[in-house]
Formats: sequence, C-alpha cells, structure tokens
Amino acid sequence: MRKRYVGAALAAALVMTGCSVGLQGPVDPVGAAPTPSASASAPAGAADGKAPGKGPDTAPDTAAAYRKWGLKPFAAPPAPPKTKPVRTGGGGPVPVISDIPTKDKVVFITIDDGAEKDPKFVEMMRELKIPVTMFLTDSAIRTDYGYFKPLQQLGNGVANHTLTHPNLRTLGAAAQEREICGQQTRLAKEYGTTPRLMRPPFGNWNEDTRAAAGRCGVEAIVLWRESMQITNMQYQRGDKKLHPGDIILAHFRGPSELKGTTMTEMTVNMLRRIQEQGFTVARLEDYV
Ligand SMILES: [Zn+2]
Repeated sequence: MRKRYVGAALAAALVMTGCSVGLQGPVDPVGAAPTPSASASAPAGAADGKAPGKGPDTAPDTAAAYRKWGLKPFAAPPAPPKTKPVRTGGGGPVPVISDIPTKDKVVFITIDDGAEKDPKFVEMMRELKIPVTMFLTDSAIRTDYGYFKPLQQLGNGVANHTLTHPNLRTLGAAAQEREICGQQTRLAKEYGTTPRLMRPPFGNWNEDTRAAAGRCGVEAIVLWRESMQITNMQYQRGDKKLHPGDIILAHFRGPSELKGTTMTEMTVNMLRRIQEQGFTVARLEDYV
C-alpha cells in the first residue's frame, strides 16, 4: 500500500528497509522499547487449555510438498507451552514484544499490510502448513478481504495493522484509537473473530498506542527482531543470527516491490534462512 503514496523508485528503495522505515519519520530502536509484561514466569490464565497449535507438518506427503517448493521439511516444533510466556493485558496498556521468551529453537513468521494477493502463496501455505500471523491494513486489502480467508481457514492468525497505515506517533490519542478500533471492527466483521494482536505501522508507537490498543480489545503490540527483504533478513542484533523466540517481519509483496521476485520465492528464501540456522516455525498465538 505504500506504493499508493510514494513513487515507484522510492517504493523499491523502501523494500530494502522493510516496514520499519517510512516517510513519516525515524524508527524507534526496538531494543529501547519497554517490554513490561514479557515475563517468563507470568501465568497466562484462561487462554490455556485450548486446542494445541499446529506447527509445520512432517508427514511423508508433506515432505513431497516441501520438495516441490525446493525446500527440506522443517523439524516438528515442540509442543506449545502450557503457560504462555507472554502475559497479556486486561484492557490496560498492553505489552510490547519483539520476541518471545523461550529456549526452544523456534521463530515466528508475521506478514504485514496485504498489498500483494498472490494465489500461489495460498497454495504454498496450504501445502507447507507453516503457521503465520497476518497483520492486515484496511487500505491495503479493502478491495479483497476474501483473499485472506483461505489463509485464515488454514489456521493462520489475523491481526490488526490499522485502517490506513499511519505513523501512530504523529497522531493524538483519539485518532490512534480510531485507527486501531476501526480496524478491529473491520477484521471482526470480515473474519468472524476479533484480533488479539496489533502491530503499529513502521513499528512506531507511544504510550497512547498502548492505551488505545487496550481500549480496542488488543492484548499485545507485536514488533519484530528480523525483517525479511528479498533474499536475506535484516537483523537488529549485531550477531546477525536468529535467536530462540524471535519474531520475523515479512510483507505481502510481489515482483513490482521485490525487483521481480515473487511472494512465494521470497517466502522460500525466508524459510531457507530459518532452516539453515537450525530453527523451525511455531505459532505466535500459542505463545502470546
Ligand atoms: Zn506495514
């Protein structure tokens, strides 16, 4: 959706920086963001005890599907924790997380905006059964909410990425609430379930964002540790490695934004980067 507002050349340049950098201003260093409730010892409460999460499937026919996409199957992820390691709020200011406290060699895939709607990506997710969480923006998907329904039906999470993708730090409390609550309402209407997670565009947030999210029924603000580009990830940490519990940011983008690379090719690249570091993919909603 950024292309709607900026020239094509600038959009191509922005691809390399990910959703974290926009035109509206600088990015917060995520390491400086407080994570008040991401305590490993916090009880998760009533959300526990539901159906176990679904990770990558390692059945033989799934192995064939991985070969089709030029990949090796993932190791099965560990069972979801009995107690979610991230405690979420009860209507007050919500926690802000960039990773999940866990020792398991798992990472979490999140995909933002929703501009690219490639049918091949739906086919790929149906075959590979990789859990992803989709942070969707109304202005990017309002012409085709239906594209994401099969992805939701596969068990992938639908989450809030605002109505119009503003830099929330430039907005007052009431306008932030309109952006967040408005998209909660749209997503609930379209997909039949109210999102629990929200990501502020460009990763820009302030205390008004935390308060507004809580008032809108959001339980946690989700940032990221790595940002997938075209073939490689941008790492926030100096060691340029995945760490257990990292949240990875990717985007629904196609060839016009990825220098000719398709959404599925980008996804293959991302899964290879995860595999070659010995990680598997788990479901974010099982941990938050
Ligand atoms: Zn975005």
